[in-house]
Amino acid sequence: MLIGLIDVDNNRFPNLALMKIASYHRKRGDVVEWYATFSHYDIVYMSKVFNFTPDFPYHINADTIVKGGTGYDIHSQLPPDIDNETPDYSIYPYIDKHTAYGFITRGCHNKCKWCVVPAKEGSIKPYRDVDEIATDGRKKLILMDNNILASQYGISQIEKIIARGYRVDFNQALDARLVTPKVALLLAHIRWLRFIRFGCDTPQQIHHCQEAMHMIDACRDSPARYLLYTIIDGDIEECYHRLSYFRNNTHVRIVAQPFRDPNVPNTIPQWQNDMARWAMRRELYASCDFKDFRPRKNFICRQYFK
Ligand code: SF4
Repeated sequence: MLIGLIDVDNNRFPNLALMKIASYHRKRGDVVEWYATFSHYDIVYMSKVFNFTPDFPYHINADTIVKGGTGYDIHSQLPPDIDNETPDYSIYPYIDKHTAYGFITRGCHNKCKWCVVPAKEGSIKPYRDVDEIATDGRKKLILMDNNILASQYGISQIEKIIARGYRVDFNQALDARLVTPKVALLLAHIRWLRFIRFGCDTPQQIHHCQEAMHMIDACRDSPARYLLYTIIDGDIEECYHRLSYFRNNTHVRIVAQPFRDPNVPNTIPQWQNDMARWAMRRELYASCDFKDFRPRKNFICRQYFK
């Protein structure tokens, strides 16, 4: 059979589901390739992770079309025999031979209003052993767990990560509220690929992030590098205070994202886009207060606060 793949979001992050689908079919002797308009396919798999990206706009030339991913249906899941496959990393040639992607846990027990994880995956549960992700000598692990510190299984897997010497990035961020002195000691001993990421989405989390970073750094020879994920929503004064809080900390960088309400598309207020733009430009964030930021001719963000 000829199998076509479409990564509908077409972003720079590899699609784990498509890598598993490729592996499943190639093992069965099928030919797997990225979908090409002028070919005819037995099956085309379309994967869409985000609900705010456009759908694939062209006719699909295939006997069977399979659509999956949160962008189509938050309850869609891979069948277990595909989900259990080791990803075929060769469909993304830019992934180096030392890097692997996966999840140790799925789900989350929290219910943050901007997040689909609890509705999609339910409460947190064990999913994979880290050694099943680190296949074929791949020791650089991009782990997409949503709240691994909320799981005792997750904590025991972190102990295994340290014992094995894997280098990791929990790229969906950790919950700073769950960093106890014992957890901080563990996090201080992980070989991080780049940043330790925390969510900082509420005023209360400023304190928790600060405390977590302080405890981790106290267990290390030098401070770690941190990335704080911040949602921009609601009150401009609160967002301004929260996003500005770490401006003078050279070990902290900010990733800011306006809240996208899936039920009300295309309604992000201009101040939220401007604040995200300011926070994401590192040199601007460090050197300029948001109120002094001039995103357009004849406009200074101070005007939002009048
Ligand atoms: S803690 Fe993270 S994963 Fe859990 S609901 Fe909130 S944003 Fe989603």
